[in-house]
Amino acid sequence: MTEHKATPRVVVVGAGFGGLTAARELAKLPVQVTLVDRTNHHTFQPLLYQVATAGISPGEIAAPIRWILRGRPNAEVLMEEVQDFDLSSNTVITTVQRISYDYLVVASGATHAYFGHDEWEPYAPGLKTIEDALEIRRRVLLAFELAERRAMETGHQTALNFVIVGGGPTGVELAGTIAEITRLALAHEFRKIDPTTAHIILIEGGPRVLPSYAPDLSRSAEEQLRGLGVEVHTNEMVTNVKPGAVFMGETKLAAAVTLWAAGVAASPLGKKLGEPIDRAGRVFVNPDLTLPGHSNVFVIGDLATLKDKSGNRLPGVAPVAIQEGKYVARAIASDLNHQARKPFHYFDKGSLATIGRAAAVAQFGKIHISGFLAWLSWLFVHIFFLIGFRNRIIVLIQWAWSYFTYERGARLITGSTDLPGWTEAIEDSATNTSSESRSESNKIAV
Ligand SMILES: Cc1cc2nc3c(=O)[nH]c(=O)nc-3n(C[C@H](O)[C@H](O)[C@H](O)COP(=O)(O)OP(=O)(O)OC[C@H]3O[C@@H](n4cnc5c(N)ncnc54)[C@H](O)[C@@H]3O)c2cc1C
Repeated sequence: MTEHKATPRVVVVGAGFGGLTAARELAKLPVQVTLVDRTNHHTFQPLLYQVATAGISPGEIAAPIRWILRGRPNAEVLMEEVQDFDLSSNTVITTVQRISYDYLVVASGATHAYFGHDEWEPYAPGLKTIEDALEIRRRVLLAFELAERRAMETGHQTALNFVIVGGGPTGVELAGTIAEITRLALAHEFRKIDPTTAHIILIEGGPRVLPSYAPDLSRSAEEQLRGLGVEVHTNEMVTNVKPGAVFMGETKLAAAVTLWAAGVAASPLGKKLGEPIDRAGRVFVNPDLTLPGHSNVFVIGDLATLKDKSGNRLPGVAPVAIQEGKYVARAIASDLNHQARKPFHYFDKGSLATIGRAAAVAQFGKIHISGFLAWLSWLFVHIFFLIGFRNRIIVLIQWAWSYFTYERGARLITGSTDLPGWTEAIEDSATNTSSESRSESNKIAV
């Protein structure tokens, strides 16, 4: 264990759920905390899909890290990108400086992965950051504008396909909410096109959506999605993504907008720690969340991989990262008090996934609920954990407003007016505008 003469310095990398929790708890101890993040804000990722689908604005789900830690004089914040570590000299290397530490907490999270096909990314953005959410919002809203313009020019309505790849919680909430927008918020605002005829297609490679939930909840989620008008395809692997098209083997699906919600890759910083990692780049950690051979280096949240008592890998969810962040502060407090560290134990309080308006599933141990009640539980849990009282109130009011009026308040198209793949998508869709045989007509054998 490290011997401390002066106030120990704890460097925390990443101000997501894990790092921010650790920093807040550590700041209550007699230590100096340095929190380093490449952005100036903490993002509440579970509500990113609401920004991506124009329900709320970015400022309502993100908060400046500096503001969150304003009342903690022993905590400083640095907006810098960490590049590497020199564990032999207890140093963090950022793009601009070297920072020494007594303790290091690495919590740089994970992002989406394209199964080794990074060339798909420009045509199928994923959802991880505020920037991603704004890009998805831009593409979804732009597709309708371009379709209206084209209908004015040609006199024909273009068949609009929105393809979402990956049937996990993010894919399900994106598909459900986009379906809702087309059928409710946009339904009466266009003159040449009918947004309600847009096809929302969710493709899942496995046999069911929400694979981490119990089978009955997956079935319920699929029914709720179909009720919202989403075409759900299971057991279908996407084999290629090109401008304006998604391929499943020999089958080509025209896509005005493709969104990627499949695959996870840990932050590349995991590899820089020089210890074993799993296939997704997550770092294997000891039961006290430390890096093997380094009792003063903790790895937590989505970047770490650890099994529970039953041998199951802890999931990449916010409660795991938060509990791990709290644990790190307790472990360091034990060191300072010359007490032994206890191993980390995750307490699973349950899982909730939203699908759309009044549609959700919830799993609390053996209790499984679906529909409105699950959605209400989801809503209150998410509002409760949002950072900042102001944000909680605003989001609650906005949800109540859009629930009763069907409006989406943040429908702004900003930045470029170019939609990658649009030209190719409309060429393909020109041949298949029949809505009667729509799931088949969207597919072209190649
Ligand atoms: C769209 C979406 C929806 C989700 N929905 C849910 C949900 O409903 N419920 C749930 O429990 N979980 C949900 N999750 C998962 C949950 O958000 C993650 O498990 C959680 O954020 C992990 O926390 P973390 O601290 O490990 O990483 P993150 O919260 O991802 O934070 C990582 C931080 O590290 C910073 N960082 C990364 N690299 C560097 C670097 N090189 N230098 C400096 N800083 C760096 C990033 O800027 C970021 O602030 C969702 C995730 C996504 C993407």
